[in-house]
Amino acid sequence: MQTQRLRIAIQKKGRLSKECQDLLKRCGVKFNMMGERLVVHSENMPIDLLLVRDDDIPGLIMDGVVDLGVIGENELEEVGLERAARNEPSDYKKLRRLDFGGCRLSIAIDKDATYNGPQDLQGKRIATTYPQLVKRYMDEQGVTFSPCMLNGSVEVAPRAGLADAICDLVSTGATLEANGLKEAAVILRSKAVLIQCTADLVAEKQALIDRLLTRMQGVIQAKE
Ligand code: ATP
Ligand code: ZN
Repeated sequence: MQTQRLRIAIQKKGRLSKECQDLLKRCGVKFNMMGERLVVHSENMPIDLLLVRDDDIPGLIMDGVVDLGVIGENELEEVGLERAARNEPSDYKKLRRLDFGGCRLSIAIDKDATYNGPQDLQGKRIATTYPQLVKRYMDEQGVTFSPCMLNGSVEVAPRAGLADAICDLVSTGATLEANGLKEAAVILRSKAVLIQCTADLVAEKQALIDRLLTRMQGVIQAKE
């Protein structure tokens, strides 16, 4: 069901939402965020913004439900691997890496533990929200591990006796430090990206995307 209006999925509330809305506004897209609405119609362009949990954005693109999405590479790659493993559609086009949402996905261990390399993680239980990305990294390193899947409170898992190590998003490292952990290995450096579904869009929509991309290029360059 292709609508005439371009559908863009963005995070409703969280670390990506403000910068994402600012970027769209700087690109000339006028809209008014009000209340708890799922869909916000742009006032000056044939664009609808879909406000959702960031976890849902990769799937909405991969299933072709929306045309564009803004998402952290960490989430995008995790969902892509998970869907590919289940033989579900996992394709998308990466249009542009953006200049916000920067973080790294890192394995962290007890601050007093020694760490000489991935082999020190052999057989350990690792708490994470990103089991696929951890598995990909550990497979590459030839190290086996046990997963401990947590959607929150990952950083307290070692202290709670649930896991030996964690793999979580880090920006300053303050959260790790506050929990008696230290960064041992960076497994992914992530930023927010603009992605498009792989389906062919009607010419008007594709032209609008191309115009938005050109504006985005200018907006991001002007900030650099
Ligand atoms: P939602 O309610 O939408 O599911 P969330 O709690 O999963 O939100 P946020 O904490 O808002 O997500 O983070 C969204 C994205 O912001 C992350 O997936 C990541 O790409 C990026 N990010 C940047 N810095 C950090 C950080 N220090 N910690 C966590 N995420 C970060
Ligand atoms: Zn989320």
